[in-house]
Amino acid sequence: MVLPLSLWWPTTAKQKGQVKISALDEKIVGLYFSANWYPPCRNFNQVLVNIYEQLKQSGANFEIVYVSSDEDIEAFSDYYHNSMPWPAIPFADLETKKALNRKFDIEGIPCLVILQPNDNKDEATLCDGVELVYRYGVRAFPFTKERLEELQREDRERHENQNLTNLLTNHHRDYLLGHPRPKQVPVASLVGKTVGLYFSAQWCIPCVKFIPKLISIYHNIKQVLADKQGNNNNGHEDFEIVFVSSDHDQASFDSYFSSMPWLALPFGDPNIKNLVKHFDVKGIPSLVILGPDGKTVSINGRNLINLYQENAYPFTEARINTLEKQLDEEAKSLPRSVYHSGHRHELNLVSDGNGGGPFICCDCDEQGSAWAYLCLECGYEVHPKCVMATVGR
Ligand SMILES: [Zn+2]
Ligand SMILES: [Zn+2]
Repeated sequence: MVLPLSLWWPTTAKQKGQVKISALDEKIVGLYFSANWYPPCRNFNQVLVNIYEQLKQSGANFEIVYVSSDEDIEAFSDYYHNSMPWPAIPFADLETKKALNRKFDIEGIPCLVILQPNDNKDEATLCDGVELVYRYGVRAFPFTKERLEELQREDRERHENQNLTNLLTNHHRDYLLGHPRPKQVPVASLVGKTVGLYFSAQWCIPCVKFIPKLISIYHNIKQVLADKQGNNNNGHEDFEIVFVSSDHDQASFDSYFSSMPWLALPFGDPNIKNLVKHFDVKGIPSLVILGPDGKTVSINGRNLINLYQENAYPFTEARINTLEKQLDEEAKSLPRSVYHSGHRHELNLVSDGNGGGPFICCDCDEQGSAWAYLCLECGYEVHPKCVMATVGR
């Protein structure tokens, strides 16, 4: 086993605060690779301290050991003594820290490698504790394969049983906010519609940039559906968007929501947290599409809107496949290379399987995938539609 004979406890009397490694023998141990200079580590640290304290209070057989990648002893001391309640490998013990990084193939931080007491401690059963802690909190404990499978099974069941009512209502509220305020729209009135859950906030710059586009596409989809219904009386397809706010206060929510033509969950509603967890929303803006039966159709609504605008509706796999084929067909007539105003290098046409992949468009700042124009020299990448709008050859 590569751990040293003793570890530091977080005490200002550092030298005295030591613990024997043998004290960890019967415990589930999380080797925590982290550093103070990296913001994602600091964010994760708060979350980890929180679940550590909960687990300790409930008497769980758990310990964390900090393996520092701090640059110097001052940075280490500051980070460790001010924010960690668990033991650490002594900062000066470079050998052990290096050996642990090598042994567990640590490629990025933060990283939490979980060792089970009945492992021989030379093999970790689990290497992605960070993701688990973020996703499940204390429920992830004891971090075993069985527990993980159980949680995934629960997730699957929750998704299979999901419908608009259990997603959007609670014991105290069965309506959404509409316009003009304080109009209330029953959640039940959305049943049978395609519904987009729009996770967003006014403080988020990409959200503010995305919203005019989403509003215009929302109106276009509504228009297409209205025309369809005009032509064909038995069409009752409909589309709605529900704003799921992560604004910091009621006033920002009110002002932001007043710019939107659709519905919203009330500010600070308890369902919001659950929705973020349920759909594993990692960043905003994000648009989750629910089908007429309330099941998830796509969690990539934002990307689909960027790629296909109103044509993306109803966002189903079949629809997207058709659109992808169309896009491939259209790409055949695109020039292999172009110049884009504002960029001095030549841009080359690339696709998913051919030098491309998901990207952020340097022209409109939105996501893209499938076809793109890419500068091989500096990585400048734009949507074909954005480059064709201003193409100069
Ligand atoms: Zn673009
Ligand atoms: Zn370039």
